Amino acid sequence: MHYHIILTKECNLKCNYCGGGSDTHPREIQYSLDDLKKFISQDKDPILEFYGGEPLLRIDAMKNIMDSITDVKFVIQTNGMNLHKLESKYLEKFSSILVSIDGTKDVTDKARGDGVYERTLQNIKIIRQKGFRGDIVARMTVAQGTDIRENVMHLINLEDCFDHVHWQLDFEMFWEAWEHTVAGLPEWIDSYNSGISSLVDWWISEMKRTGQVKGIVPFIGIMNSLLRGSPARLRCGSGIDFFTIMPDGRISACPVSIDFDFSVIGSIYEDAPSKLVERTNVGEPCTSCDVFSICGGRCLFVNRSRYLLREDGYTMICKTVKHLILEMQKAMPQVWELIDIGGLYLVGLDYPGFNNGCEIIP
Ligand code: SF4
Ligand code: SF4
Repeated sequence: MHYHIILTKECNLKCNYCGGGSDTHPREIQYSLDDLKKFISQDKDPILEFYGGEPLLRIDAMKNIMDSITDVKFVIQTNGMNLHKLESKYLEKFSSILVSIDGTKDVTDKARGDGVYERTLQNIKIIRQKGFRGDIVARMTVAQGTDIRENVMHLINLEDCFDHVHWQLDFEMFWEAWEHTVAGLPEWIDSYNSGISSLVDWWISEMKRTGQVKGIVPFIGIMNSLLRGSPARLRCGSGIDFFTIMPDGRISACPVSIDFDFSVIGSIYEDAPSKLVERTNVGEPCTSCDVFSICGGRCLFVNRSRYLLREDGYTMICKTVKHLILEMQKAMPQVWELIDIGGLYLVGLDYPGFNNGCEIIP
């Protein structure tokens, strides 16, 4: 199973959609390393993902865990500001490094602060120079107004930076509390969907031109399961095989909804990993939805707190999901053709090989 470990709730940035970490307490880890080891040792195939706040504000705590717990896969989700501080010995242990960045310099700095874009790319260059050849994922938060095509293409085309690009829609724009702050969300949803169509066209044309699959995670994840005919469950895995260990040792189904009662489902002191499974699930409207077997329910947090959304919030989110699925279904015959011509499964469509924290459905 996959465990997010919140190393601290503090952050060294103040991004628009977050505001600089969580104010709830405790903010720092209260359990001992032995408590953590005992809990993790009950899982045969654990993946540990360091998360925050900003996990690289607690590099020593992270290194202690990495030194003490072996035979596991490590992942980190970071804002990248301190990535240059990691020695090669620790970098080498990461299967995926998810770095928050939103697209071009203007888009990223507007949301995350002046200079963030340059420093992020500089630090990625440094870890590449230190020999890190593993998977680096650009983890975008897509706010209202973002040109999705332009910004995804910008990141995926940066030389020797990102192997994959993944994004999530900034869900605050769908909250009822934000409804009257910015006008024009339905119109932007339409332009976002047009941008997705155009991005899919480009993705397929690149496949035809190069035989390679550009690492656009939502496209890859959905196309892969369409080609295999495998039904999806909630793709991020929250509450199924994906849990968050909070600083006080309680366990949340999702790393983002740690302050919501529905999400807190156990603790490392009282529960074995196998006992946590499906203590919380997505419900309606997802379970009766005609694309549930492909979408999987998108997001447990939004599904369980939909009472906080604006009246048309869920409809707008689902409009993006259904459009993306339709575009993938339309593109599928062309991908089959390429597979038939090549006689091989296209390199790159089998991603991620394990749940590395990319939720797949934006
Ligand atoms: S499209 Fe919307 S309603 Fe349907 S399964 Fe996905 S999130 Fe749920
Ligand atoms: S998709 Fe939703 S439920 Fe899943 S990890 Fe992200 S915020 Fe949590």
